Parts: sequence; C-alpha cells; structure tokens
Amino acid sequence: MKTWGLLLVTIAFVIGTSIISVELWGQKEETIAADVQVKLQPGMTVAEFGAANALSKSLLKDFFKLENPEQLQKPITDFGLSLEQISTEINKSIALETEDASKNWLKIPLKFSLWFLFMGVCFALLIKKKMSKKRRLILYALGFTLFGVILGADPSPMGTVKDAIVLYAAKGVIFKPRLVAFSVFTLLVVLANKFICSWGCQLGTLQDFIFRLNRNSDDTGPGRWPQFKLPFVISNGIRILFFIALIWVAFAWAYDITREIDPFKIFKPLNMSLIGWCFVVGTLTLSLFVYRPWCHLCCPFGLTGWLFEKLSLFRIRVDYGKCISCLACENACPSPVMGAILRRDKTVVPDCFSCGNCLESCPTGAVSFSYGKRAKPTSGKLPG
Ligand code: SF4
Ligand code: SF4
Ligand code: SF4
Repeated sequence: MKTWGLLLVTIAFVIGTSIISVELWGQKEETIAADVQVKLQPGMTVAEFGAANALSKSLLKDFFKLENPEQLQKPITDFGLSLEQISTEINKSIALETEDASKNWLKIPLKFSLWFLFMGVCFALLIKKKMSKKRRLILYALGFTLFGVILGADPSPMGTVKDAIVLYAAKGVIFKPRLVAFSVFTLLVVLANKFICSWGCQLGTLQDFIFRLNRNSDDTGPGRWPQFKLPFVISNGIRILFFIALIWVAFAWAYDITREIDPFKIFKPLNMSLIGWCFVVGTLTLSLFVYRPWCHLCCPFGLTGWLFEKLSLFRIRVDYGKCISCLACENACPSPVMGAILRRDKTVVPDCFSCGNCLESCPTGAVSFSYGKRAKPTSGKLPG
C-alpha cells in the first residue's frame, strides 16, 4: 500500500503544482500554424500585402529583406519571387514566426542555465562515487520538480527531435533554436553518457523517481512488487518502430502521433485529453515495474541519444583487474545494460542512464564513471 500511496501522492503533486505553475508563467500554446490562404494580387505593394494578410512588420522585413521603410511601398513582385513562390514561402515564414511566438524566451535560458548547474553536481557525485540511494532519490525529485513542474514541459530533449520532425514534415521548415537545443543535448550525450536524460529530463527523472518507490532498502533490487528488465532487442525494436511510425505519419498526414499521448503533458495537465490521461497515468504506473518505460519503448530522443551514447567520453567502465565476477552490479542495475557492459564483446549495449547503482553496489570498486573506452572482459571470467 505504501508504494501505491507514494505513487498517487507523486502524480497528484505533479499535476496539482503544474496547474499552478502553468498559470503563473502564463501558458503559451505550442501549436503548428495552420496553412493560410494567402491574399495577393499582381501590383500589390509590400505594405498592402502585409495588411491584407495581417503579417507583422518584422516578418515582412525578414521575408522581403527590406533595407528601409520606403521599400514597403514597392510591389511585392519586385523582389525576385513569383506570386506562387510568395504564397508558398510566406506560409513557411508564418510557421516559423508562430513557433517563435509560442516560446517563453525568459524561461528557456533560465532552464538551460539551471540544467548545466544541476547536471554538474550530479556529474561530480558520480565521478567521485558519492551517488547514494538517498541522494539519487532527492536529485530525481528535484529534477522533475524544477525542470518539469516549475519550468514546464517545454523545452525537453524529446521535443527537439519529435517537434523538429513534425514541423519539417508539415511545413518544410527547421526552427533554428530547436536545432541549437538538439545540438546541445546531443553534445551532452557525447560528453557524459546520456546525462541530459539521466538527470536533466523532466519526464526521465519523474519515471526514475517512481521506479525507486518500488525498490528494496538499499536500491539494489525490487521492493514490495516485482520489477522486470525488458530484453533490449524487444524494447529497442518497439522504439525503432515507434520512431518510423512518427516519421511516416508526420510526412503522410502532417500529424504528430504523440499529440494525444505525449507524457510530457503531465506538466501542463489542463491540455490533456481523456486518452492522454489514461496513457500518462498508465506509463507512470508502469514505471514502478519497468525502468523508464517511455524512454525505452517510445521516446525519439531516447533512440537518437542511444546512438550518440556510443561516442560518450565519460561512461560506466569496469576494471576487470579488480572485478571478482560477483555480478552484484548487474543485479543492482535497473535494466539489462550492466550485464551487457560486463560482457560487452557479446552483446549490443543498451541505454545506460548513469544512475550510479552499479557504482554503489560493486564490493571491489571495479566500476567507475570515468573517461575513456571500455575494456574487453577477461575471457572466461564472467558467466554466459
Ligand atoms: S529518453 Fe527519457 S529521459 Fe531522455 S528525453 Fe526521452 S523521456 Fe526524457
Ligand atoms: S549501468 Fe545500469 S546501474 Fe550502472 S549507471 Fe548505467 S543504468 Fe545505472
Ligand atoms: S560488482 Fe564489481 S566485482 Fe562484481 S561483477 Fe560487477 S564489477 Fe565485478
């Protein structure tokens, strides 16, 4: 009962406080602009064209590359574009302007600054092998409260992949700030093993926190209820299929398949439909039994992050000289990844979320979160 009670309290806390937080920030709706039936006629001036289509001055200035206000009186066809091209291209500019207007440009730099600070602390704790069960739990709680409840659902690592695909498919444009955010997140993955997912992502830390509610007293195995390690070939297979479906539906119908079920919406709960509620509560409940189900089964950034994780500079490594093959690290790891790291010459290594369970459980200090490539296991040292 305690586990279920804590799950309910956690979900109620996130929903209740997120509703207040969204109100305080003054929510901006994240939507893709609908296609506009552009009103234009030969001989129309730029100013007339802008007024007829309710376009902002800055959009007109950027679109026609105006150098001075006098150029507002020039005919729209004097800028080297046919009427048909203007009609197509202006829709793209409107899409980008709508995207820009939907962002809170105060919150985004604040969130990124706090992300770097917060992840810096987590990084130092892992390097120094000081990530304990208690600290982990506090940091996950702080992570989803700060980056989800207080600073909202957007931006998120997942959004930089998913929203970029959907916007490009629907409008043929790339929103440059999102590309920058994706590059920063990917760089963090390359620097320190999926660190943005481990400690920065609001939904990742929430799922991890819930998973820890069903662990034993030293966080080395399941608690009151069983927990399951999904075979990576199955979880990654589903994730790849989901990614393909996302791209296919986006390009075929300009539709976002996560629109109804996006679990990040728990941080803007008033935007969720009944289907969304059922899906999100179901995913969070599943997190008691399976480690980070959304990350492993669906998340598009989970998939791209897993690919870039292969290049990580800092990662979980095993010193086979010190290893006594007790497999305590593998048992303590919430997913199949530590088993694959130990026997890495035989298997594809699944996502490691740098939680530090393996560091804490190793009796000989053979596991470290450190810089460098992973060594090959000593032949015959480890079972199967
Ligand atoms: S994989 Fe998980 S932690 Fe990473 S972005 Fe997706 S939801 Fe967040
Ligand atoms: S190998 Fe497993 S236990 Fe170790 S940090 Fe990665 S996910 Fe956590
Ligand atoms: S817990 Fe340490 S000693 Fe035991 S198998 Fe893992 S690395 Fe080797």
